[in-house]
Amino acid sequence: MEVREPDGVTVAMGEPVAASVAEPPRIVRLDESVVNRIAAGEVIQRPVSAVKELVENSLDAGSTSISVVVKDGGLKLIQVSDNGHGIRSEDLPILCERHTTSKLSAYEDLQSIKSMGFRGEALASMTYVGHVTVTTITEGQMHGYRVSYRDGVMEHEPKPCAAVRGTQIMVENLFYNMIARRKTLQNANDDYTKIVDLISRFAIHNSSVSFSCRKHGVNRADVHTVTTLSKLDAIKTIYGISVARDLMEITASDDNPSQSIFEMNGFISNANYTAKKTTMILFINDRLVECTALKRAIEVVYSSTLPKASRPFIYMSIKLPSEHVDVNIHPTKREVSLLNQESLIETIQNAVESKLMNCNTTRTFQTQTVSCAPASNFTARKDTQISPASGTKSQKVPVNQMVRTDSRDPFGRLHAYWQDCPASQHEKKSDLASVRIAVRQRRNPRESADLTSIHELLNEIDQNIHPGLLEIVKSCTYIGLADEVFALLQHNTHLYLVNVVNVSKELMYQQVIRRFAHFNAIQLSEPAPLPELLILALKDEDLDSGGDNDDELRKKIAEMNTELLKQKGEMLEEYFCININQEGNLTRLPVILEQHTPDMDHIPEFLLSLANDVDWENEKECFQAISAVLGNFYAMHPPVLPNPAGNGIEYYKKIKDKAVSIDDADNHGQDDLDQELLAEAETAWAQREWNIQHVLFPSMRLFLKPPKSMATDGTFIQVASLEKLYKIFERC
Ligand code: ADP
Ligand code: MG
Repeated sequence: MEVREPDGVTVAMGEPVAASVAEPPRIVRLDESVVNRIAAGEVIQRPVSAVKELVENSLDAGSTSISVVVKDGGLKLIQVSDNGHGIRSEDLPILCERHTTSKLSAYEDLQSIKSMGFRGEALASMTYVGHVTVTTITEGQMHGYRVSYRDGVMEHEPKPCAAVRGTQIMVENLFYNMIARRKTLQNANDDYTKIVDLISRFAIHNSSVSFSCRKHGVNRADVHTVTTLSKLDAIKTIYGISVARDLMEITASDDNPSQSIFEMNGFISNANYTAKKTTMILFINDRLVECTALKRAIEVVYSSTLPKASRPFIYMSIKLPSEHVDVNIHPTKREVSLLNQESLIETIQNAVESKLMNCNTTRTFQTQTVSCAPASNFTARKDTQISPASGTKSQKVPVNQMVRTDSRDPFGRLHAYWQDCPASQHEKKSDLASVRIAVRQRRNPRESADLTSIHELLNEIDQNIHPGLLEIVKSCTYIGLADEVFALLQHNTHLYLVNVVNVSKELMYQQVIRRFAHFNAIQLSEPAPLPELLILALKDEDLDSGGDNDDELRKKIAEMNTELLKQKGEMLEEYFCININQEGNLTRLPVILEQHTPDMDHIPEFLLSLANDVDWENEKECFQAISAVLGNFYAMHPPVLPNPAGNGIEYYKKIKDKAVSIDDADNHGQDDLDQELLAEAETAWAQREWNIQHVLFPSMRLFLKPPKSMATDGTFIQVASLEKLYKIFERC
């Protein structure tokens, strides 16, 4: 390797020689063009980032019409034309220099910035990684100007040309000088989809601007909106009527300086909408941004309230005082940071929750009307059309798939022979809800009877709430994990330690009762054989109690337990979505909290306690016990592998040492295994920590009704009150 010093002397950097101490490498100043190209690569990460910057500039210029043309996913050409105020010809020489902007002059202006751009970096960056040509005309000019740029400077004097109002910016050969980046972006279709998605989002929020986006050489635009004043109309145009019809308007606001100040309005999907993934279109102070915490918080509400529609469509526009938003935290301005984010998220979460609660009733109503209309079959067909931009699908189950009522073609079906049946019977059941209940009862005669014991269990949960703890749970702030079992929470001026295992166990238990007989399923990738797992669990128990080691006996117990669980299989499947097949394999488990799967290392204990701890005779006790066993299985226990972060690391070393003593000559394999185990443990612990913060706590806020016992059994422990701490600090 060689480094060229500024004065032209070449210094060889050889391998360090043992005799002489290696000299430190020289530090040199990077060439400015290299610096600029590196910086540009950060601002313009992919073609879609260039499009975003260009469209934002057009919006900043007050345009009412913006059109985008893309060739080869943006690598060959991106062209954005607008009808905004244009660029003065005298500004053209410095237009594409770094840090030239018309939107910011003092740092303080950032506090009140309303425009989307402010860094004066976007156009400059594009000239370092592509070829940029600008054509622009300002109001009252006879002609426009066209000029091309490279590396921040004009390639020639601006040339007069004919131009229509506004600005057209063309970026060609993006990343021509960044081979690696170009290679990773080869899949042109992928980026074009991203660009279409981006323009769709802008078009919804800026519904008074007309947008179009198309591929070069193709006449038909993939996004095309006309100026409309309603956001819902814009959504309809872009995502299709099937999406727009399943949306509800939502608003929320807060005006409490000690919590948060904001106004939100938007649209969220109802129970009829399903899709493979969530679509979240979020604008904060008119800026298109992402906020994972808010998205996740809303998803949690959906998965618990409408498990079948748990991937929602969300469009939200949030406005807050500009001094509460820091827009300058991300190179592409994709994220912003907000003052009082947690409180804002919680208020929005509550608004979404109450909206969804109400929509549950609306849903039955809608289905009823559909079923009464004779043309329902046609409507249902149309509903399932796929919307072009989002790839989402409306999920209204066509009525004719649920109950056979195909009136147009009765032949070959059983009810063709029922035509003599008195019409009155049909009329009696004309309301679909009652038909549905009747069908359900026939398929599942026990359901209505069983509900009483479940209702009793639900009532018991409600009556046993500790109001003080409920208040803490609802409005606490999560601080972090204190150790393997306790998390730290703040509520008002108090700090609490909370036993994560206990609260998650209780939360899961309560959710099982609430979702009774209505679970989604987790399909195990490989069926888990009961007898073997039960033997494992029995061995573990014997180890714990130091009991005997009779393999035969264990085998027998395992077989008996397997038989017992197989016998109860039908009930377990129907009410708890626990599927045990005839071969004695566990194949399916229930979804208790969306985005959470139990730690499969605990399956053996789960099966053993399912077989041993349940009183199968008494209905209510039986349901309660099964729910508790599930609750314990799904709770956020520390992973089985010791935590490598603390002293646990010894565990991983020990294995290696043992291997060395057994086989000194070749311990490579063992070495790898050790690393693998360590990596596995690290992932398991990191995953759990993430789950606790992002799944457990948001769900707990919404759903946990803490029982009185938690106030005294060490689940919640108050560790400090800030007032007292301040007093102590004052004395220091
Ligand atoms: P920023 O948007 O942060 O100011 P840019 O590099 O994106 O930085 O743009 C630099 C300047 O060029 C802008 O401040 C604006 O004055 C001008 N400009 C860019 N695009 C347009 C456009 N489409 N119409 C009018 N002016 C534009
Ligand atoms: Mg800009």
